[in-house]
Amino acid sequence: MIEREQIEMDVVFVGAGPANLAAALHLKAEIKKHDEFVEKGIKHGPAIGDIEIAIVEKGPFVGAHILSGAVMDPKAIRELMPDFLDQGCPVDSVVTEDAFWYLTESRGINAPIIPPPLKNKGKYIVSLSKMCEWLGEKCEEAGINIFPEFPAAEVLYDENNAPTLSPVWMRSIAAARSGATDSTVILSKCFSGGTCTVLVTKIASTGATAKC
Ligand SMILES: Cc1cc2nc3c(=O)[nH]c(=O)nc-3n(C[C@H](O)[C@H](O)[C@H](O)COP(=O)(O)OP(=O)(O)OC[C@H]3O[C@@H](n4cnc5c(N)ncnc54)[C@H](O)[C@@H]3O)c2cc1C
Repeated sequence: MIEREQIEMDVVFVGAGPANLAAALHLKAEIKKHDEFVEKGIKHGPAIGDIEIAIVEKGPFVGAHILSGAVMDPKAIRELMPDFLDQGCPVDSVVTEDAFWYLTESRGINAPIIPPPLKNKGKYIVSLSKMCEWLGEKCEEAGINIFPEFPAAEVLYDENNAPTLSPVWMRSIAAARSGATDSTVILSKCFSGGTCTVLVTKIASTGATAKC
């Protein structure tokens, strides 16, 4: 029988892509804001206090499996962290001009009109991998636990299919390399008492969604 270490977490995000890293930071900030409001009497109800948040990532480090360069619309990062540039966000440059060229074999024609989805003036050119590495550091500074080399292999439900306990079954690459099999189970339940495991997220220049 396989002995599995269990690490209790309140919220588990699967995948350290830009969406989950931003969502974890946002969650931390919202909890802090909520607790401050409760303390000042602006909000009623209990404070949430410290909760354990984990992000598991299959790559050897945050950003390792993020390949694309990107034009980043700063709308979302500005909302998350208004002083993102002062905080060292690794942007390469700002787009100062847009041009749309139709290229033939022998010449190029500069189009007089640029289709709106291709307008990027004012946006930033980034390496998404570096961006994630930096967001990962910000998460760790905020007390979020990051587990690299942990591919989430399977979601497990209890016998009643109840969402009160929803472990994500992790197979540690390190353990697999050393000959062991499924070695770690991370249990997640959210701070409100239910289960919260964020499995799939998508973020683009225009916004983000997260399924929980
Ligand atoms: C070629 C290309 C160019 C692009 N250009 C732009 C652009 O210019 N501007 C723009 O805004 N968007 C661009 N995008 C889209 C952008 O990259 C995605 O919208 C964004 O990366 C999605 O973020 P995400 O966090 O949802 O997921 P991802 O970036 O896909 O991150 C998912 C993370 O989860 C990890 N993971 C996956 N499965 C598991 C598992 N089972 N267990 C543990 N970890 C796991 C992965 O290793 C990865 O780190 C581009 C995409 C591509 C492919």
